[in-house]
Amino acid sequence: MSNAEALQSQLQALTDKFAERLQQELPELDRLAEALQQARDNEQRRQLMLVLHEHLHRLAGSAGTFGFTTLGQQARLLEQRADRWLEASKPSGQALTAFVRAVRLWTAETQARAPNNLPEAPAESCDNLQAGCRIFLLESDPDAGHKLCQTLGNFGYDVLRFSQPEPLLAALAEQLPDALIVSQHANELAAIGPLQQSLETPLPLLVISQRSDFDSQLAAVRAGAQGYFTRPVDLTQLENSLEHCLNLQHNEPYRILIVDDDADLAARYSLVLRNSQMLVQTLSDPSQLFDTLHTFNPEVLLLDVNMPLCSGPELAQMIRLNDEWLRLTIIYLSAETDINRQMAALLKAGDDFITKPISDNALIAAVFSHAKRARSLSTALARDSLTGLLKHADIKEHVIVEAQRAQRSGKPTSVVMLDLDHFKQVNDQYGHAAGDNVIRSLANLLRQRLRRIDSLGRYGGEEFVAVLPECSAEQAKTIFDEIRQRFAALNFHAGPHTFSVSLSAGICETSAQVEPGTLLERADQALYVAKHNGRNQVRIAARD
Ligand code: GH3
Ligand code: MG
Ligand code: MG
Repeated sequence: MSNAEALQSQLQALTDKFAERLQQELPELDRLAEALQQARDNEQRRQLMLVLHEHLHRLAGSAGTFGFTTLGQQARLLEQRADRWLEASKPSGQALTAFVRAVRLWTAETQARAPNNLPEAPAESCDNLQAGCRIFLLESDPDAGHKLCQTLGNFGYDVLRFSQPEPLLAALAEQLPDALIVSQHANELAAIGPLQQSLETPLPLLVISQRSDFDSQLAAVRAGAQGYFTRPVDLTQLENSLEHCLNLQHNEPYRILIVDDDADLAARYSLVLRNSQMLVQTLSDPSQLFDTLHTFNPEVLLLDVNMPLCSGPELAQMIRLNDEWLRLTIIYLSAETDINRQMAALLKAGDDFITKPISDNALIAAVFSHAKRARSLSTALARDSLTGLLKHADIKEHVIVEAQRAQRSGKPTSVVMLDLDHFKQVNDQYGHAAGDNVIRSLANLLRQRLRRIDSLGRYGGEEFVAVLPECSAEQAKTIFDEIRQRFAALNFHAGPHTFSVSLSAGICETSAQVEPGTLLERADQALYVAKHNGRNQVRIAARD
């Protein structure tokens, strides 16, 4: 059994045990609620409420950890009601009756659902960007609708257009898309707002409108809009914004490493964080730290302060000796409450201090906010600011790493060098800003059409490099010919002008005869041949 399978079966055993406990816990809650209703005096009510509160609190804290998220949330709401009742100076009899009814209804419903009462599966992430995202578009103008469908189609989105709100609402009742675009002519948003509010998570919504006044934008925000565009719409920006809000949903999980000599405690924290969709590894032997940093590449390190071999602050200082881990956020997790000692640890190294014991929710919130910040800083450092793709040095490194991997696995990897045709003229005729728009569009198109395992970088001004593992030169040519055609079909706008741009590409496949260090050069030679033969084409490098 692999480590992952072993972990899975351990987690399953814990979940089964919890489900069993639930079988006893729910009738017990019901019994307590009934007793509470029949209690004779206030003191007895108070005592029973305290016991009930404790049960709900434990359930609220643990259910989510074992995958029963909704059940945990419902228990939390009831716990809060119990809290309010206990805190009230004159607890009302009416509130008590309503509370008892709510608890009993809840336990009865939850038990009735028992056979299906399985933990909810974590949300699946969209692993293959090529699997087109489904967009619903509300646009009553046929011409504008057609153009938008075509452009977004070229970017790989699967767009369904509606010309009236009613059929759109009917379709939404059947199936929710990945995003919604509403083009306002009259007051189409009036129909969308209530729908958005009724959803647990509102749909990513982009609004297109004639107006740019305060009230219109406020109405859009209230309907849950994440983007607002006035006509004439800059389609590149619209697509950018669409990608941005869809990417937010499909983000990779944050990577968290916990170093604590108390393995049980580390396992407990790990479970809580995993349940919030983070990737977690634990380590009880600090001497393994650097190996784990290399293999796991965490974004946040939760570090115990007192350990037998060496202290947390010592480890943190060792990490900070090397710039390689600059992007890693270090949080001490310790029972140390002495503020002076906390400060002394932070002054040596480290970014924050969390005091044990900590509630599950507080732990999740603290780690999540640090991980989010670490991720955005790290992205900003490694990525090109115009396109969000890898920078020159990073993509060059990816070429070498993937080529070496291909040599080990014996499966071919293709390296593609890509360059815009006559781009200087585009800048000269339509201005640098229009040129930037073209570069950004190509980056977005490449991201849309390639797989998640492919790497993409901006190699130079209007030059891009893609690395496609487990992909032969012929397969890469098919993919890039399609990208080339779709890109050439895009219309760009600059003032009164509409224009399009083409691209050329050269491909080189890894093989035993080709040195990894010469792959880019060979792809560049193939690109030169494509340019020389008239541009707007994809060429494969000659084989030795
Ligand atoms: P070819 O088809 O042979 O590639 O012709 P070209 O005009 O594209 O090639 P050349 O290398 O002569 O010109 C590239 C131009 O790309 C020059 C530069 O102004 C423009 N460029 C480079 N980086 C950027 C950028 O970030 N933004 C914009 N707008 N233009 C850029
Ligand atoms: Mg060029
Ligand atoms: Mg060039």
